[in-house]
Amino acid sequence: MTTPALALVPVLIDDPAGTGASTATLTDQALARAARDDYQNWLASAASAGGCIRPIRLRGRSRDVDTATGEIVREFDTADVPDGVIYTACGDRRASVCPPCAETYRRDTYHLIRSGLTGGKGTPESVTSHPAVFATFTAPGFGPVHTRPMTQGGKVARCRPRRKAPLCPHGRRMSCGQRHKDTDACLGRPLCPDCYDYQATVVWNAHAPELWRRTVITIRRHLDRLARDQQTRVRLSYAKVAEFQARGVVHFHAIFRLDANSPAGELVAPAGITARQLAHVIGRAARVTGFATVAHPARPRGWDITWGTQTDTRIISLTGTGQLSDVAVASYLAKYSTKSTEAVGTLAIRITAGNIRYYGNPRSHQGRLIAAAWQLGRHSHDDFRALRRWAHMLGYRGHFATKSRRYSTTLRAIRQARADYRRRRHLEHATAGPGTTPAETIVQVPDLSWAGRGWKTSGDALLALSAAARARDHHAIARQETAAVA
Ligand SMILES: [Zn+2]
Ligand SMILES: [Zn+2]
Ligand SMILES: [Zn+2]
Repeated sequence: MTTPALALVPVLIDDPAGTGASTATLTDQALARAARDDYQNWLASAASAGGCIRPIRLRGRSRDVDTATGEIVREFDTADVPDGVIYTACGDRRASVCPPCAETYRRDTYHLIRSGLTGGKGTPESVTSHPAVFATFTAPGFGPVHTRPMTQGGKVARCRPRRKAPLCPHGRRMSCGQRHKDTDACLGRPLCPDCYDYQATVVWNAHAPELWRRTVITIRRHLDRLARDQQTRVRLSYAKVAEFQARGVVHFHAIFRLDANSPAGELVAPAGITARQLAHVIGRAARVTGFATVAHPARPRGWDITWGTQTDTRIISLTGTGQLSDVAVASYLAKYSTKSTEAVGTLAIRITAGNIRYYGNPRSHQGRLIAAAWQLGRHSHDDFRALRRWAHMLGYRGHFATKSRRYSTTLRAIRQARADYRRRRHLEHATAGPGTTPAETIVQVPDLSWAGRGWKTSGDALLALSAAARARDHHAIARQETAAVA
């Protein structure tokens, strides 16, 4: 069974009436709520937050208008519901902020990525026959760090064994003979923090989105040339996810898919170019794409921004054995689209002149990265000034999950479909019965304003989150049973 999120994280309550002076226990609060006449109504409105632990409370009116007739099908005023507010999910993708919303985001991202490979959600199933490649783009090295290499046989190898390792200028031996556990705190940490190039790291993070953009242009250019030779035209689609490595550098996983450039815009498999050729083009583009940043007093010639020496490309095959399957790839990417936002060293809050002394502590790897971003960000050029604004993200200011327009549907469309579904169900309840309203022509015209954040009391949170957890379990059981029958 699913644990209600309340068990995991404290619930934020910003309502002064709900905190402080109240000595009521959780059970008292929950019982008081459940004993009210309007409890079922309240529970229904709380359910729209989908189990969010820090929902947004909205006040105001909302109208459902039938665009076919101009008629107001339904009018809704929050003054008529318990507490005078409706609850909506915070929608945060960070599991440390709101686990249920992060889970929703992860699931949506999964469907988004998967449908681009297997079809569904508006993408034709024929995409399974298109050439597709899974590629990983990593940053170059900025100094030796502790690692956990694996041998061919799947055993953990020694970190950085060197018999006659030299001492660095700071007197540290540049070798490590340990076989690290995957929980070792030193993983990703430099052998010598004083030798490690923190400035280059954060500058690289800051320019990674631009490097990605240029790489995609290079790939497209190479593909166009290939296609021209074959007297055909192709179009490249991709979905990519950014992830922080333990050393505090961002890297990218991406799925590339090749489509024919059909005049009507429909998705058709391209003729003449294979997945192997696509992988080759991607690998080559990663090797040749690079640029220098603008000059900085700390580095008058600027920093060179390139990918590391190894760009891993694998052909995605739906039928082959021993290769990545689409499902594995999609769930892998979806997992990182939520995990990556809070991995190693990134903070949920922005760095300011007031807190840099605390967060930029040179005794930690993270602190040094943040301090480097803060210091370099003193420069007036936009490319560097952004380092201050994004110091809490170690300089990275890109998105964590992005895709090209044609790859598949959008997160917004998935969310809209869910909202439509909920509304339709609501309407069916409210009106004569299922199927009586042509819901497709109905649009919601909300006029709602912010009324606060969080559940009113811990008791409310317990009731709402337990109900959401029960609903999720029901869904899961229903899914399992459907799968068993099918
Ligand atoms: Zn939430
Ligand atoms: Zn080591
Ligand atoms: Zn050193």
